[in-house]
Amino acid sequence: GCPAAPSGGTFGEREMITESKQVSLAVDGLQQRLADKVAEVARQPEHSWADGFCSFMAEPDGRHVLRVGATHCPPDMDIWQGLRSPAQVGMYPIGLEDIWMHYAAANVRSTRADGSPNPLAMPEPFADAMERFKRAVIISGMLAMNPTVYETYAGKIERGDADPPDDYCRARGEVSKLINKAVGRLALSLMAPNRAVVPMTGDNAGKVIDGTRSAYTKGKYHGPCNNAYPQNSIAVMTGLLRFGVSRLPFRDELGPDGQVRRLMGQYASVVIFDDHSPAGDNGDGVTLLEPDRLGRMRRVNDYADAAEDVVADRYCTYNLRGADGDGACRKCIKVCPSGALAHSSPDVDGAYSQKQLSQKHRFSGGTLDFDAGNCGRERGQKAQLYAEYVCARCEAICAARGIRKSPEEIARINAPA
Ligand code: SF4
Ligand code: SF4
Repeated sequence: GCPAAPSGGTFGEREMITESKQVSLAVDGLQQRLADKVAEVARQPEHSWADGFCSFMAEPDGRHVLRVGATHCPPDMDIWQGLRSPAQVGMYPIGLEDIWMHYAAANVRSTRADGSPNPLAMPEPFADAMERFKRAVIISGMLAMNPTVYETYAGKIERGDADPPDDYCRARGEVSKLINKAVGRLALSLMAPNRAVVPMTGDNAGKVIDGTRSAYTKGKYHGPCNNAYPQNSIAVMTGLLRFGVSRLPFRDELGPDGQVRRLMGQYASVVIFDDHSPAGDNGDGVTLLEPDRLGRMRRVNDYADAAEDVVADRYCTYNLRGADGDGACRKCIKVCPSGALAHSSPDVDGAYSQKQLSQKHRFSGGTLDFDAGNCGRERGQKAQLYAEYVCARCEAICAARGIRKSPEEIARINAPA
């Protein structure tokens, strides 16, 4: 069961928003605020399991283990620079202008100040709005899954247990609902007169995609792996998570016992336009997203790059060698039943095999695609028969058994830049 969560964040404590008082976007405060929102949502009856099931990771005192990352940039920055390819985030990912368009469409003032109708009112164009708004802040929040759920599933995988991973499905669905609702509430609490706050929860991101993408720029015309608003890549962009060779993002950090713990979970985001200048890292944990930083992130998340300094910045230990000279981990690859991960990963030194290199159709801009065909085919077929079927063996084994770096190495990776 879940430990009792501390109370707080009740309705009555919500602050009034005035011109002079707005909630700071410093990461520590956002994390506390999001924790309050998650606790608030989790207290609702639909999230209280009669059997005491606990979907999320909790600290010994009952606090939810959740993390927030935030980054800021000028609103006209191309946040997907170098990643638009079917082998990466897809061809038409949602950018800041698309997010603005959704916000503006939901903020058409069709009544004039004197109360008369204004039938020609239109959404405010991006270019006009950006004369007021000097920066975009991208905030990503992740709620970590209960490690016991992963542990149980990993045990089943190792034993060859044919029982479906029911607890995993239940936990993932529950954690996803909690973080999406809580991030929606977080966004609401950040509203202020000189901010445009757009909650990019799963539902809202879907609305942005529907509103801004034609049939020929989404779905299979966008790319095989991601929808047009990849929350995982957004979470990585904020510095919150890093991709493993499995192409799943996670965060390693030091737990209360000083040991490394792995946080894998579900995430949602908020995009805020405001009139501050994205001048640099302001000491509030909001990092500056600029082309060099994006370029570095691309390298850290590209396992074909095995330069020593790049490998040192990864949580995933795929590129390291064990005492026997073999790859130190590779656990996700070994348990992948469809072979998708083996087909999609370079060797521990970052080199693609001759077989992979001969599959020229799978490369785009020098990047090998993820074998979504095999991974999806297997899962899709079973889901036709069994509504709750998921595979996620790569995720469970990485969370429960993946080899971690030392506490010192993780502390160095997580130290503020
Ligand atoms: S979900 Fe299953 S089939 Fe797909 S990559 Fe992970 S382990 Fe392989
Ligand atoms: S299981 Fe190991 S090799 Fe696979 S992503 Fe996790 S840490 Fe990396």
